[in-house]
Amino acid sequence: MHNPSFLVPNNPSSSNCASRHDFFFFFINGAYRDDNGKPSFLSALEKQSGELPGTRTCEEYLPMGGSVKMVEETLKLAYGEDSEFIKDKRIAAVQALSGTGACRLFADFQKRFSPDSQIYIPVPTWANYHNIWRDAHVPQRTYHYYHPESKGLDFAALMDNVKNAPNGSFFLLHACAHNPTGVDPSEDQWREISYQIKVKGHFPFFDMAYQGFASGDPERDAKAIRMFLEDGHAIGIAQSYAKNMGLYGQRVGCLSVLCEDEKQAIAVKSQLQQLARPMYSNPPVHGALVVSTILGDPELKSLWLKEVKVMANQIIGMRTALRENLEKLGLPLSWKHITKQVWSNFILLAGVTTGNVGYLANAINEVTK
Ligand code: PMP
Repeated sequence: MHNPSFLVPNNPSSSNCASRHDFFFFFINGAYRDDNGKPSFLSALEKQSGELPGTRTCEEYLPMGGSVKMVEETLKLAYGEDSEFIKDKRIAAVQALSGTGACRLFADFQKRFSPDSQIYIPVPTWANYHNIWRDAHVPQRTYHYYHPESKGLDFAALMDNVKNAPNGSFFLLHACAHNPTGVDPSEDQWREISYQIKVKGHFPFFDMAYQGFASGDPERDAKAIRMFLEDGHAIGIAQSYAKNMGLYGQRVGCLSVLCEDEKQAIAVKSQLQQLARPMYSNPPVHGALVVSTILGDPELKSLWLKEVKVMANQIIGMRTALRENLEKLGLPLSWKHITKQVWSNFILLAGVTTGNVGYLANAINEVTK
């Protein structure tokens, strides 16, 4: 296993920075494992070890909105490197406490500025959304997503829910790699969803916790978002570096809201900061520096992109191996959905390795006989 030396601040006498030991244990709680079942430390992160600008001042506060450089780089990943919305300064964006914190900040924002609105959450979904929007006192509704018989998207029911929701509702959408089903709408389905959401004046809020993990390419994984942008929606996005940079315990992410113009974006950002102030004042600094250093350096960024592909391929490869092993065992059941979906369950596939996939297939075979 790599030594996570980049996590150790240059100033060892600083008592405010967590020790190597503390960080190590945060990281093994993460979801991704390599083919030896070990947590992965990206070499893009290790390469900037010792060169991280600002590590000597890691006890300084960031501005309330977080690291400007990190936020700039993060917006490029979601909205596109040459996005006109970035150039026109139409995006209100703040650093957030990873994806969870971005969702929570948005939920509070929704409550404050659209107090009568509700949030539509897919079924099934990441369970924490219900806690997040409950604690923000936003009424929740659900929309159909997964069709158990076809083991795919329940598109007709989803569209029905979008059409029948009160105009101006908020819809929580997974930008890619839907958790926990792994089922994403096709490009054509996304177009229809986008069209109908526009017709109804709903607000699409994208949670993008796994950018790069669906296809191995963060750019491709942003395609649903780009489509909504083309269609002229105002959107919100929660981004996280927990998974795709392995920065689980650093709590580094971003909340952005696309506004009508620069003036509105300034006002919205100011309101987001006012919401953050009584919750945590300033976001944490170290992870933000790691991200901005990697994404701001073309060489490190391309190394990171390669590593995202390796992580995605590991999951995709295990899916194929599991399906092949199950098919070899000959039960008259279809296992096609295992490879059709990104992963049938993130926790399950993250723990599957070349060494244990045969054992797992046998066990599944036994219980489904
Ligand atoms: N969204 C989804 C769909 C998730 O699965 C997760 C974590 N499992 C998150 C957001 C939040 O992750 P984090 O706060 O660690 O970025």
